[in-house]
Amino acid sequence: MLVLNSSGDVQYEPRISAQPQLMAETAPRRARAFPVCANPRCASGWLQLWRKRGVPVVEGGWLCSPACTRARVEDLLRREQAEARPAPPHRHRVPIGLTLLTQGWITHQDLKDALEAQRKGSRLRLGEWLVAHRGLKEEQLTQALGLQWSCPVFSLEKQAGSLPANIVPRLFSESFGFVPLRLTASGRLYLAFEDRIDHSLALAMERMVGLQVVAGLLGATEFREAQRLFAQGHFARARLIEAGNLELLAEAFSRQIEKEKPAEARLVRVHDLVWLRLWRDMESRDHAQAAVSGIEDVIGSVVRFP
Ligand SMILES: [Zn+2]
Repeated sequence: MLVLNSSGDVQYEPRISAQPQLMAETAPRRARAFPVCANPRCASGWLQLWRKRGVPVVEGGWLCSPACTRARVEDLLRREQAEARPAPPHRHRVPIGLTLLTQGWITHQDLKDALEAQRKGSRLRLGEWLVAHRGLKEEQLTQALGLQWSCPVFSLEKQAGSLPANIVPRLFSESFGFVPLRLTASGRLYLAFEDRIDHSLALAMERMVGLQVVAGLLGATEFREAQRLFAQGHFARARLIEAGNLELLAEAFSRQIEKEKPAEARLVRVHDLVWLRLWRDMESRDHAQAAVSGIEDVIGSVVRFP
């Protein structure tokens, strides 16, 4: 059996290399039947332990013992910590007022007045001011924002059925200002934002759910309606953990994994939060519309997350 030692070098484990002939004949079948512990620094014997526990599995890797779960979770947290925050796609964006003017939806005077109101400290954003005081239609503002961000504009009119509430913790939708609108049969997840696309969040969602995310905008009124519909959905159980540092968070996460023994778990960072999702069985994992009872979310925050 090949194992990695703590410095990452490949070594032969003596216990196995004592029976080279047997291993050579049965290795391919054994490799599938008895997976190697996913903790690269695992020091345990694997065969006896595998008979005792087939779970938990974290990010596709079986973990042989609570100590290995703890080590693996810490590795994953460090990976998320090191992950550079994706910079928003650098695009020259035409100012929203100019976009509206170009479309013929406002006049030069409207724009001048709106900018003057901004200068005087209006609490409304430029587009909102134009909707409130110059009769700009909300749909036109959303269309213009879509042009500005080069993203699709969604509509609730085509919305069929309930919103996929189990796809994301409710706290995320509320904290980061988005609503998951629908899942398509082809495996696309539509995420609606109100006035700007959070690319970092869209990427995190893509990594967590393994679906292609299409991010777009919804007009203010429809967005509020979508939030209301979303809030009526059935959410997976979620628990919040605040930890003083990364090690304590790793400890809390791995304790939860050991308690629930999930068939699969994934971990992603979303801004200053870390989202750990546990699936009790592979059915819950494979069907995005699976019952929420098969899913549990653990949301962690580190007091000082760099
Ligand atoms: Zn192990």
